[in-house]
Amino acid sequence: MSWIYMENHLSYNIPVSMIRQFCFCPRIFYYESVLNVKLKKPIWVDQGTEFHEREKNLIKRRNFNKLNLDKYIRYEEYEMSSSVYHLAGKADLILESDNEVVPVEIKSQKRKPTRGQVLQLCSYGLLAEECFRKKFIKGIFILDDKDKNYLIEMNGEIKNELMNTLEEMKKIYLLQIMPDSSATEFQCNQCEYLNLCNDRNF
Ligand code: SF4
Repeated sequence: MSWIYMENHLSYNIPVSMIRQFCFCPRIFYYESVLNVKLKKPIWVDQGTEFHEREKNLIKRRNFNKLNLDKYIRYEEYEMSSSVYHLAGKADLILESDNEVVPVEIKSQKRKPTRGQVLQLCSYGLLAEECFRKKFIKGIFILDDKDKNYLIEMNGEIKNELMNTLEEMKKIYLLQIMPDSSATEFQCNQCEYLNLCNDRNF
């Protein structure tokens, strides 16, 4: 069966939350989405979830007037899916004006978002663009820093990177082949799947 045929008949939607994990290490996606292995998450994941819950309650009071987005309609925890991109997920917040949509993500960190987090935010933007039929040109991270919003502008480079990442994920899902990993010792030592990766000899 050809790869094009398989891709055209794919009924699976990649969870947007998996994109960040995939960028950290593609094998995590393979274990969780292809083999369906679910392990207990490390403690810092729970701490991030608690922060996320707290921020969700505060998001109503967050104002975006410094970015001129305070008049936009807000859709909190907005679920979307696309059979075009084979993606599905729930954005923390979508802002909508007459002519654009802006995805917003909450993160329990002060540092600049990672590449995986940027691709994840842009995935919500693509979903919102399709769902609302309005353009997506920027997204926002709310970081764990009082009143600090981090603006990401969507451009061709990010979109290409995202499309290539989704393509790789679909291939791994359909062909069910464990991907190579370039994860460092530091990454593997904080990963709950280390026991399954027996080629990691640290
Ligand atoms: S242990 Fe390392 S190679 Fe294996 S899934 Fe985790 S990060 Fe990836």
